[in-house]
Amino acid sequence: MKISKPYLIVGQGVAGTVLAHHFLQANIPFQIWDSPIHFNSSYAAGGIFNPVTGRKLEKTWLADELFDYLFPFYQQLEKTLNASFFYPMPLFRPFANAEMKQWLLDRKSEINHDFLTWTDDGVWVKQAGWVDVASLLRHSKNYFEKQGIYAAKTFQVADAMDFEGVIFCEGFHATQNPLWNKLPFLPAKGELIRFQSNEPSRDCILNKNGFILPLPDGAFKVGATYRWDEFTQTPTASSREELFGKLTSMGVSNYELLDTYVGIRPATQDRRPFVGMLSGNNRGIFNGFGSKGVSLSPYFAHTFTQDILGEKELQADVSIRRYSHLFSV
Ligand SMILES: Cc1cc2nc3c(=O)[nH]c(=O)nc-3n(C[C@H](O)[C@H](O)[C@H](O)COP(=O)(O)OP(=O)(O)OC[C@H]3O[C@@H](n4cnc5c(N)ncnc54)[C@H](O)[C@@H]3O)c2cc1C
Repeated sequence: MKISKPYLIVGQGVAGTVLAHHFLQANIPFQIWDSPIHFNSSYAAGGIFNPVTGRKLEKTWLADELFDYLFPFYQQLEKTLNASFFYPMPLFRPFANAEMKQWLLDRKSEINHDFLTWTDDGVWVKQAGWVDVASLLRHSKNYFEKQGIYAAKTFQVADAMDFEGVIFCEGFHATQNPLWNKLPFLPAKGELIRFQSNEPSRDCILNKNGFILPLPDGAFKVGATYRWDEFTQTPTASSREELFGKLTSMGVSNYELLDTYVGIRPATQDRRPFVGMLSGNNRGIFNGFGSKGVSLSPYFAHTFTQDILGEKELQADVSIRRYSHLFSV
């Protein structure tokens, strides 16, 4: 593949960061810009990756492929950046009540899969854990700066002509970009809090209508809320009450509130990411990772890179080409 000008990656959230590391690996020349005037939702993320979802303990979409890919990816990236931010950790899902326990046990043979270990009180989920996203982004930014490929700049339309292609990794802000605002995003504001307590376990992530995550500094995080009615960066009293309620329902009564984090998940109506270059145009997108940026972005950065290199076409259900009718003039 012959590339005369560099690519531009717009946005250094988890999506832009993970894509940039794949471009470095593939020797695709690029710059990465991150806007000093837009907020970044990745800093609010709990960073959890969890291959099990829903009442019926199903495997998440593409769990086998995603989780086989993400472990070596983040482990290698820790070495490259000489930093620690990847924390595999067992996740425990207690049965909600006796009735639910019986309901699940009656269906155990249909439900069971390799990610689950059953106990009397609930199920353990294997291959779960969390990424310290703030640390990943900070170390990556330093790494990109040292290579002279990072700038704290906001993309303007006229910038596009200097680049082979521009790939927008703007998270929620894509909903305000005239190029992408017709896409069926379904953003969801979320909050979580960091707290101090002696009560929760330090050995696992507890997952019961929310999560409690033990942090290396001795504190914990509890999350997360979802709302679809407003998209400001302001924490709300009602979300805080909801998070306190989650703590109570997970058996934590004594705690001290340390911090509140707010972000907006770039979720999509069809619950699939938006990935790929527009045809006949040098604009592309890597977005729509919703509440799963940490587990989805590595695998799809890999497949997007293969698509750009002409090695393998992107799978249809994530490709932006499924919305090509929105971009025809
Ligand atoms: C409370 C909460 C908890 C969450 N917990 C988890 C979790 O446990 N696990 C998980 O996987 N996910 C979690 N998420 C979801 C996760 O945060 C998102 O999937 C992820 O942040 C999306 O990353 P992004 O890079 O697409 O967007 P962002 O992180 O928002 O990054 C976009 C970047 O683009 C920049 N930008 C925008 N426009 C421009 C422009 N014109 N020029 C230059 N730069 C621009 C912005 O400054 C920003 O830095 C959570 C989210 C919230 C809100």
